[in-house]
Amino acid sequence: MKVICVGRNYTDHIKELENQKPKSPVLFLKPDSSIILNNRPFYIPDFSNEIHYETEIIVKISRIGKHIQTKFSHKYYDYIGLGIDFTARDLQSDLKKNGLPWEKSKAFDGSCFISPWVEKSSFMDINNINFMLKMNDSLVQNSNTSYMLWKVDELISYISKYFTLKIGDVIFTGTPSGVGKVTAEDVLEGYIENKKIFNLKIK
Ligand code: ZN
Repeated sequence: MKVICVGRNYTDHIKELENQKPKSPVLFLKPDSSIILNNRPFYIPDFSNEIHYETEIIVKISRIGKHIQTKFSHKYYDYIGLGIDFTARDLQSDLKKNGLPWEKSKAFDGSCFISPWVEKSSFMDINNINFMLKMNDSLVQNSNTSYMLWKVDELISYISKYFTLKIGDVIFTGTPSGVGKVTAEDVLEGYIENKKIFNLKIK
């Protein structure tokens, strides 16, 4: 399986990193080796002094597809979750400055946290889901999928032009503002619609 991530999909986050609003979705991939398995903690790697959390609504692909039309995208996923796109921001800034690919800063081992899944059918409207992240009990990210520049169904259509979507693939739909640094012993808690769906320790 693969993880396809969308960058710069919330205006408030584009502003906080002083990026330009993209004309089309920014995409990058994480390999399966980046996924944190079995409730393990996130271990801060020794190559970075600035690991950021990015909380994102994620969707799990349930059907193989290519060149999917937006109006049919809803048939290609059954589950929604929350992910953390861990980013070595110091490294990424360096790579960006030099026009180099981001993988070392975003696709390293442990950079991909996936929460337990929630059935899509339990949501009234995919484009109106509240989600938030608390770090050590204080609210650090709080947003709603209605603020996405490209909505989930549009992203699935766009992504499938480039990458065949397969069963089990996961899409990270981008982070809102409020990203920040983690340090050892921090505890991250993710919520969808006020319901806590994960708890992750930083080591
Ligand atoms: Zn991200």
